[in-house]
Amino acid sequence: MSRQKIAAGNWKMNLTLEEGRLLVEALTQSAGTPKAEVVLCPPFMHLTMVKSLLAGADGFSLGAQNCHQELKGAFTGEVSAPMLKSAGVEYVILGHSERREYFGETDALLAKKVDRVLEEGLRPIFCCGEPLPIREEGTHVAHVRAQISASLFHLSPDLFSRIVIAYEPIWAIGTGRTASPEQAQEMHSAIRSLLAEHFGAEMAGQTPILYGGSVNAGNAASLFSQPDVDGGLVGGASLKTEEFLQIVRSF
Ligand code: PEP
Repeated sequence: MSRQKIAAGNWKMNLTLEEGRLLVEALTQSAGTPKAEVVLCPPFMHLTMVKSLLAGADGFSLGAQNCHQELKGAFTGEVSAPMLKSAGVEYVILGHSERREYFGETDALLAKKVDRVLEEGLRPIFCCGEPLPIREEGTHVAHVRAQISASLFHLSPDLFSRIVIAYEPIWAIGTGRTASPEQAQEMHSAIRSLLAEHFGAEMAGQTPILYGGSVNAGNAASLFSQPDVDGGLVGGASLKTEEFLQIVRSF
């Protein structure tokens, strides 16, 4: 079975409603039928609008950038997995390095968020990746293995089969410094081996592993041509119509 290919756009905290509408309209009008699934991840307040704009757009799905670990309650300012589901969301980015760094999200908290998202039938895009000092020290593979095992290895094989992994070296996020295709492939292959050790070769073979970190129109094709790179999680370049469309066409 060939693995699912995904180009996900993480808008982060960018774009007004009007700017978001214009971007989605431009993307859906020009994308044709994409070769990869295109997952748009706008801020929470854009979700219902983007959902309506995507009606009838082949190959596009909706993602959120985070969700709370509890189902409901007195958590002012938070958004739950059932709310996301009711807005037509299919994917939820969890464990982005910005959430880990600025909002103190730990491996243990992320394990709970993963559970909630899966309980609602949504698919986590689980982010992992090392900071620069860990890369320079040469312990990056061990770092990422630890993140994945701490937040995902409690799952049953059935639930794990819905996970998408995004490897995002922190030193490459928003910096314009991309991992080389060889560096990406080395880590993606190590992640797939780890999944094979725990869940078996068949599961490892079907899990999409995306690369994130300064993906752009110029480097996407060489990254996506690596055997274990199944697409990208794209930040800055997903806000620019032509740039993101070229990334989507790079498979
Ligand atoms: C991201 O936000 O996940 C990301 C990879 O950002 P950028 O593409 O801007 O580096």
